[in-house]
Amino acid sequence: MYELKYEKNEASEFERLGLKKESIAAIKEMGFSTPTPIQRDAIPILAQGVDLVAQAQTGSGKTAAFGIHIVEKIKLNDQSVQAIILVPTRELAVQVSNEIKKIAKYYNGFSIATIYGGASINVQTDILKKGAHVVVGTPGRVIDMIKRGVLKLNKVETLVLDEADRMLDMGFMDDVEFIIEQTPRTRQTLLFSATMPDEIKRLASKYMNHPESINVSTDAVPIDKINQSYIVVDKKEKLNALIRILDKEKPRLCIIFTKTKFWADRLGSILARKGKRNIVLHGDLSQSKRDKAIGMFKQKHVPILVATDIAARGLDISGVTHVINYDIPMDPNNYAHRIGRTARAGKEGRAITLVTPEEMHDFKMMQRNVGIFVKEEREGMIEADKEAEAEKEYDEYSLEEKFTAFDLHRIKKEEAGRRQGHHYKPHVQSHTRYGRKKRFAKKGKK
Ligand code: AMP
Repeated sequence: MYELKYEKNEASEFERLGLKKESIAAIKEMGFSTPTPIQRDAIPILAQGVDLVAQAQTGSGKTAAFGIHIVEKIKLNDQSVQAIILVPTRELAVQVSNEIKKIAKYYNGFSIATIYGGASINVQTDILKKGAHVVVGTPGRVIDMIKRGVLKLNKVETLVLDEADRMLDMGFMDDVEFIIEQTPRTRQTLLFSATMPDEIKRLASKYMNHPESINVSTDAVPIDKINQSYIVVDKKEKLNALIRILDKEKPRLCIIFTKTKFWADRLGSILARKGKRNIVLHGDLSQSKRDKAIGMFKQKHVPILVATDIAARGLDISGVTHVINYDIPMDPNNYAHRIGRTARAGKEGRAITLVTPEEMHDFKMMQRNVGIFVKEEREGMIEADKEAEAEKEYDEYSLEEKFTAFDLHRIKKEEAGRRQGHHYKPHVQSHTRYGRKKRFAKKGKK
């Protein structure tokens, strides 16, 4: 096992959180110099042993927040399962497990089992039989293991529900409740979720004991570090637009999101034919193909990953410079999840969404729902047009909608423009397929 070489310099913020020297040494090796907001908030609360509901997304550093707590709490001389972490996808299970292994590097004898569907049940059974202090797993496989009698949760002291809203979306709620009921009532329960739909609140009130709550959702996706824009493009022009974007941006590492698995495959082949090397990731691929795709992209062997939402959920790949939404997400919450794949760990990122005129309304509603403003971008768009477009968007809102915080900056911009004597021409046209062309045609005639 590893020997701890730990030199005490100036007390770091992590040390001030009261962490053990083994954890601090590992965190330092992982390259973390200061705690993220969720770590700063959650670690002291968790140390008190109370339940916690945290609204936080992937990218916030939530894994280390609960991972550090769990690793520090494990009794290494007791071989029973003392913590279980439920996650929605296999990819997230592997990722969470790897992060915890790194944190536990200097805890000799620490063991963790990662169990998920689509991989050999016998191998995972053997791992569990050898004994694991911590289990990270997807609900279906965890239940399998409980039913086979190889996983016993009666000694669990900490239960984590990670990406709870995603587990809800994927239909895992009954399984999750079944698993919770196998654990002792005295356990400490932690729930992490990017959003808090009623079902999640109900789950928390049913199974949690006066939980503390923290919300770092706005810090979670470092929105200010992501240069977001959208481009309105006709459906039949989407592919050409995508190629132009790739040629112009020359992304070093880019994830392209599609709505369907079918389109992910299709787009992958078309791009390959056009000389854009890529690899496809979606839920219909075998586990080994998915692992290979993630591996190749992570190692930067291919610059483009074409993915669907569920497959890419929770992917933590550093150095992603671009996220391109070839299709707008069906679930508004996925927008933040998608763009959060870039601008990881303090880096900057670019997120571009292709929106057809027919999707414009849904896209605007999505921005309102998630409280994010995305600016429009157009090749060769002149300044006056940008203002006109902004004004037009503003006029499309009802009076009530106009005064949401989300639109405030546009109102301010308009006022500033008026003060400078600009004339704002009201726009009444909607984004019909030909509306844009007509407007330009009219302008041209003038
Ligand atoms: P998560 O939200 O858990 O998916 O974490 C997002 C990424 O941030 C992971 O790559 C972590 O390894 C990284 N990370 C977590 N905590 C810190 C920290 N304090 N400083 C820098 N990076 C961190």
